[in-house]
Amino acid sequence: MASIRDKATGAEVLERLKKSLRVDWRDYVALVAYEVDGNPFAVLAAIILSQNTSDKNSIRAYMRLRSSIGVRPEDVAKARLEDVEEAIRPAGLSRQKARALKLLASKVIEWGGEEYLLREEPGVLRRKLLSVQGVGPKTADVFLSLVRKAPGVFAVDTHAARIAKRWGLVGDKAGYDEISRALLEFFGEGVSEEAHRLLIALGRTYCRARNPLCRECPVSDVCPSAQQRL
Ligand code: SF4
Repeated sequence: MASIRDKATGAEVLERLKKSLRVDWRDYVALVAYEVDGNPFAVLAAIILSQNTSDKNSIRAYMRLRSSIGVRPEDVAKARLEDVEEAIRPAGLSRQKARALKLLASKVIEWGGEEYLLREEPGVLRRKLLSVQGVGPKTADVFLSLVRKAPGVFAVDTHAARIAKRWGLVGDKAGYDEISRALLEFFGEGVSEEAHRLLIALGRTYCRARNPLCRECPVSDVCPSAQQRL
């Protein structure tokens, strides 16, 4: 299988992405929560809201949650399920997500409050988060890399997964863990958060699911899938 590795290193690709793409925190719900509120539960809540929807919708839902319920675990735990559901309606799957938010809020309180999310060893915290129904590996990894700056983590969303496959870093059938490991290995330690954001920007701007804009793409000369499309 041809791979982008045959023509460029992860560091070279990252440099190109940095030069050609714009990452604005206002376009990413996790970054909005991080910049506007900054408490760890708020960031986890924002990532849960972003599941299976656009950042635009999840940002609307996050702002409504923030103003009508609050984004501390205590606020969400004591709110009625129906009220949380109503607040986050713009994010879709609102019943499911409201349940996950309330369950996570109760768990965080049980674990010792938001401080726990900031001081637990990242590997242990990841396992704890994954034990909560409605919290998947992407949610845990975005949190660990954004808030905890944890090493050895690379969060994979649909854009990152599609691009890793098109770059030949993994096969078409690869699952979350394999893609995460491959991207971490390609880009190297210490840049996961930035690379994750840039892959989303690349996926939104050029490497779209349908009709990717290979001709204008900043990595078309090193991407093994571009050759077939040019
Ligand atoms: S060249 Fe095409 S397939 Fe490759 S990363 Fe760019 S848009 Fe995606």
